[in-house]
Amino acid sequence: MLDIAIIGAGPAGLSAAITGKIRNKKVKVFGNPMSTSYIYKAERIDNYIGMLGVTGKEMMEQFTGHAREIGVEIQTAKVIEIFPMGKSYMLNVENEFIEAKTVILASGIAKTSILPGENEFLGRGVSYCATCDGPLYRGKAVVVIGDSTHAEEDANYLAEVCEKVYYIPLYKEIDHLDERIEIVRSKPKKIIGENVVAGLELAESSLEVSGVFIIKESIPTSKLLAGLEVDGAAVKVNRMMETNLPGVYAAGDCTGKPFQVAKAVGEGSTAVLQAVSYLNALNREEKLNL
Ligand SMILES: Cc1cc2nc3c(=O)[nH]c(=O)nc-3n(C[C@H](O)[C@H](O)[C@H](O)COP(=O)(O)OP(=O)(O)OC[C@H]3O[C@@H](n4cnc5c(N)ncnc54)[C@H](O)[C@@H]3O)c2cc1C
Repeated sequence: MLDIAIIGAGPAGLSAAITGKIRNKKVKVFGNPMSTSYIYKAERIDNYIGMLGVTGKEMMEQFTGHAREIGVEIQTAKVIEIFPMGKSYMLNVENEFIEAKTVILASGIAKTSILPGENEFLGRGVSYCATCDGPLYRGKAVVVIGDSTHAEEDANYLAEVCEKVYYIPLYKEIDHLDERIEIVRSKPKKIIGENVVAGLELAESSLEVSGVFIIKESIPTSKLLAGLEVDGAAVKVNRMMETNLPGVYAAGDCTGKPFQVAKAVGEGSTAVLQAVSYLNALNREEKLNL
């Protein structure tokens, strides 16, 4: 079991991982590719101490290189959901299940807006993971809404199991989509159905489907971990980066403004030190109960 699972391999997550590793904890980072960090897109950064004029890509390469050099394990994968398990948490990492005593959420700004019907039909036709739920739609019609070329992998897999796959790209250039998939360039408006999904309403038409796969880089934090207190899009934390759930911390852009690397890195370090204290207290408690 991991001591600390970190969700997001941006500045906040990597900063937390480095300090966690130095404090001898079993730490692992689960993150989308480096290029999805917000800072990767910055042309030039002049306000991070010691790195004047660096590009976002260079900064991320340095941060990631530093983490790897001291032995931090980084798994490039998306965390789909986190379930509380008494004194630990179970992570669904693209259908691989990993248990951790503590969790640090460092997932950046949730770039996704919620589609009408998304909450209502989640688990009843709406899914965030093709690998996890694809087999349930064998022989059926589904639609995939993708916000980047990464979603094309999921759609291609669904084309192998589903009777019909529609694909709605929320970006311009398609990269490697299977030819069996029908591309629909229209804005999704609303997921419809009675008890389960029956279709997707678009700007000028609608699709009759049993499944709606929403494949985006980030999953709203409130969806990632049920019961997590949020304030709008931001995870609610105190000064020690503790959330309302025991053993769960948050750091960086996902806790709200200001959106700055220095703040993300500082919060990552605060969060992990708090996780270390929590783990040490857990260990003492376990020893007393032996
Ligand atoms: C164009 C631009 C220029 C900027 N310039 C500056 C600047 O000059 N100075 C400055 O201080 N700040 C700048 N910023 C802000 C800075 O980028 C952010 O404050 C910083 O990246 C926050 O770090 P973070 O780790 O919290 O989030 P991010 O860097 O966004 O990293 C979060 C990571 O988590 C991943 N993730 C999300 N959900 C999941 C999941 N479920 N499973 C796995 N991974 C997940 C994301 O894909 C992403 O890789 C700029 C931002 C932009 C967009």
